[in-house]
Amino acid sequence: MPKATETLLEIDLNALNSNYKYITSKIAPSTKMLAVVKAYAYGNDAVIVAKELETLGVSYFAVAYTNEGETLRNASIKTPILVLHPLPVNFETIVNRCLEPSIYSRKTLKEFIEFAENHNQSNYPIHLKFNTGLNRLGFNHNDLLWIAETLSNTKSVKVKSIFSHLAASEDLKLKEFTQGQIKDFREISEELIAKLGYKPLLHCANTSGIINYPEAHFNMVRSGIGLYGFGNDPEENKHLKPVATLKTVISQIHVVQKNQSVGYNRGFIAETVTRSATLPIGHADGIPRSYGKGKGWVTIAGKKAPILGNVCMDMIMVDVTNITCEEGDEAIIFGPSASAEDLAASINTISYELITAISQRVKRVIRKN
Ligand SMILES: *Cc1c(COP(=O)(O)O)cnc(C)c1O
Repeated sequence: MPKATETLLEIDLNALNSNYKYITSKIAPSTKMLAVVKAYAYGNDAVIVAKELETLGVSYFAVAYTNEGETLRNASIKTPILVLHPLPVNFETIVNRCLEPSIYSRKTLKEFIEFAENHNQSNYPIHLKFNTGLNRLGFNHNDLLWIAETLSNTKSVKVKSIFSHLAASEDLKLKEFTQGQIKDFREISEELIAKLGYKPLLHCANTSGIINYPEAHFNMVRSGIGLYGFGNDPEENKHLKPVATLKTVISQIHVVQKNQSVGYNRGFIAETVTRSATLPIGHADGIPRSYGKGKGWVTIAGKKAPILGNVCMDMIMVDVTNITCEEGDEAIIFGPSASAEDLAASINTISYELITAISQRVKRVIRKN
C-alpha cells in the first residue's frame, strides 16, 4: 500500500473477501448469510462494502436505521435489506424503497399493518424480533398468541423471518445464559411456526454466535464485526483480516525542552528533552480525548508513539523521542499491523466503538488487487 500523505481510512476489499469466505466456511452451505452494514459498514463505506458483498453472493443486508437502507437503495443495491430499528415515522420510506422492517412490539406491528393495508400491500415482508434476554428490542414469549391472532386477520404482511439477538455470544463465561437464549428462541419460533402455518427464516447468531454456537445458526446468520476483520477472540483474529487501516502523516516535529509543555492546558509537561510529532487527526476525526495523556498511541516506523497531552479537535501530538522519523513520514493509528482491538482496550472500549467512530471527514480510499 502506498504511504499516506494525509489522513486516510483505507478500505481493503481483498480483506473483506477473505473474511467473507472464512465466515461462510463456518456455516452450512444451506445457511444464508446476512451482512450487517449499519453505521457506514462499521465506519468503512456502506455502499462500497455492500456492492462488494453483493458480488460475493450475500443473501441479505441489515442496517440499523431506515435512512441507511435508503442510501443503499439509492446506490442500486438490489439485495433484500432488513432495517433493524425502524420507527413508525419511517414506514413510508420503508415501503417506498422496498426495505424490510424488524417488527419488535405490539405498537410497531399494529401500525405497520395499518400502514400496509392503507397502501394496498399484500404479503409485505416483515421480520419479527423476539427478546430472549437482551431486553433491548423485541416481543416477549407471551406476545405469541396476540401476534398470531393479529397476523391471521390481515393479508397485508407476511413473516419473512423470526429472529433474536444474543447478549453475550463472545463471552464463554456466560455460555449457560446464551444457551438459554438459544433454547428460548427455538421454542418461540417453533410455537409461532405452528400457529402461522408456514416457515419463515430463523436467525439469531451474530459473528461470535457463528463462531461459538454452531447450534444457533438456524437458517441464516448475521455477521458484522467479523466481516470487518475482528473476531472478539485472539484465535479467531488469526483467520480474519482488518478491512480498515487508519493512517496519517507527520505534519511537524518539535523539540520540547525540559519543563516546556505540549498541547491545550499543558496536558503534557516534558521531564526531559522530548521530540513531539504533530499529526492531522483529532477528536473530530474519531479519536476521543480519552486516548490522550499517554493512554493511546500511533505506530511510526513500526514503533509505538504515545499521545502527548490532550487530544485536540484536529490534531494529536505524539512522542517520537526514540523513533527515527521526519516530517512527511507515515503514522498508523490502526490496521493489520496495529490492532484496533488493543488500542480500544487502552481506554476500556471495544473495536466496534473505535472503528465506527471514524468521522465522515476522513477521506476513504478503496484498495483492491
Ligand atoms: C449489530 C448487530 C449484529 C452484528 O453483530 P456483530 O457482533 O458485529 O457480528 C447482528 N444482529 C443485530 C441485531 C445487530 O444489531
